[in-house]
Order: sequence, then structure tokens, then C-alpha cells
Amino acid sequence: MSEWKKWMAENDAYAASVAALPHNCQANPYLTVIPDADDPRVRHLFYDARIPGASAWMHLIIGSERALLIDTGMGAGDLKGAVQALTDKPIDVVVTHFHGDHTGGNGQFARVYCPEEDVPYLKQQMADPEHRMRPLCDEKDLVPISDQTEVIPVADGYCFQLGDGETVEMIHTPGHTPGGCMLLDHKSGILYSGDAVLSTPTLVIDRFPNTWFPELMTVTAFRDALIKNMPRFEHVTKLCPGHGKLGIDKGYLAEMIDCLGQIIQHPEQHETYDYVDDPGQRQIMCAGRAMVVYSDSRIR
Ligand SMILES: [Zn+2]
Repeated sequence: MSEWKKWMAENDAYAASVAALPHNCQANPYLTVIPDADDPRVRHLFYDARIPGASAWMHLIIGSERALLIDTGMGAGDLKGAVQALTDKPIDVVVTHFHGDHTGGNGQFARVYCPEEDVPYLKQQMADPEHRMRPLCDEKDLVPISDQTEVIPVADGYCFQLGDGETVEMIHTPGHTPGGCMLLDHKSGILYSGDAVLSTPTLVIDRFPNTWFPELMTVTAFRDALIKNMPRFEHVTKLCPGHGKLGIDKGYLAEMIDCLGQIIQHPEQHETYDYVDDPGQRQIMCAGRAMVVYSDSRIR
């Protein structure tokens, strides 16, 4: 069995174990709330998409003065009520990138922070609510896409302040999307790694729209950003991504850089990715535990 098949089998087993937990969120029957194993300020919110590899995480960091919600999921059920039941602090909302499985609940909030290069894509999505990503939920529970939500662009290095010494910094990590970011909590050392670095494959594929900043939707831009930012990752304690396993060790970042370098040097040495039935996702490179599914047109 190829290494990547082993990792995907592990991911599937992990997702099944999380999905089997009771849906313990009174305000939102689609979510499971899981306290972080290391940081008592953090709750992870799991949405079970019931599609292999698609179940998504949101993360709530409850600081001493403010809370930060990272991503808003697919828009199934009352997310705002769910997070307000977990904290009475004022809540800032940030999305790691514009894709619909991370922004579907935006319409419940007055303002959402978004990486600046993804803002035009997010606004395009908000202007076309019929083409949203559809979660599996009752129609009455679908959060409407609202064009009333204010979108605030944020750039690399922007810091959210959650209280005394509680800073969460945005780290621009293009590739999957032009603006895609990771968020580093300097107090805990947890890197909320979105869809950039995760235990399932990072997708850098030509099916994603590339109207703006196509040069940032490449394997090369992704690798260069990771290499440039390695000094900022020095104090990372673990990775909590947007899909797949929580609590990945930071050695995974170096494995990802290796994987991206192999694609750039030997793009033909991929394996065939047949985990999903999608002609737009056919090439996978695997190095150590890191996996990238890519299109040849998105390498440079
Ligand atoms: Zn995603």
C-alpha cells in the first residue's frame, strides 16, 4: 500500500472516531464541541460532513478579554448561538480562506476578518448565494449567505489581541487559495493551520477559481511561504488544521516543505490519487506524512 493510502486510512479512522462522539452542542445539533487537550481556553467545533475527508473544524479561543472564532464552517445550524453559549466575551471572527466549507456561517456575524487576497473571492461568493457549498442539514437550518456581513481585509502579520499577552498572528500561506493563512497563537504555541497544512492532502489544483492573484495559487508560492516563515514557527507546539487530525507535531511542516520541493523538481513522480472520484484531483505527492494533490498548471 502506498504511504498516502495508509495516512488516509488513519485519517478516516480518526474522523469516524470524532463523528461517533455525541453531538453535545445544544444550540447547534450539527456540531460537536471538544475542549483542547492542552489549552483550557480553546474549544474545537467539529462539523460532520458525512463525506470522506470533508468534515471541518472551527476553533474558538476564549481569551481573557476577547474571543476569536477561526472559520465558520459550512453554514449548518446556529453557529453564533453555539459560540455565545461557550463564552460571554466579545467575539472576533476570522476565516483562514474563502472556501465555502470555512465561510458558510459568516452570514450570522456583523463582520468577518479575511486574508486580503481572498477578499474579492469571498465577496464574489457573497454576491452569488445560490452557488454556495451545501451542507447536509435541514433547509431551515441553512445559514443564509448575507451580503450585509462586513468583510475586513487582513494582511500577513496582523495580530488579534485577546487580552494581556494573548496575541494571535496571521501568517499568509498562499497556495491552496491566494490569501490562505494560518493563525499562530503566541500564548499556547498552537498553529491553526487551515487548509494549508493538514493531515489530509493540501489541494493545489486548477479547478479552484483563479481570477485574482493566480501567481499565489501555486506549489512554489506555498513552498516559499513555508520556508520564509520557518523562523516564526520556532515556538509552535502543535498544529490544529481545518480538516483531519488535530494536534499534529510541527515536524510535519518540514515534511511538507520536502513534499513541495519534490513536486517542483520532479512533478512527474506523482502517484495516482484515487481516494476521491474527481478528475480534477488525480496527482498526489507524498513525503513522510505530508501529502499534496496538485495540477501541473499550478506548480509555478
Ligand atoms: Zn476546506
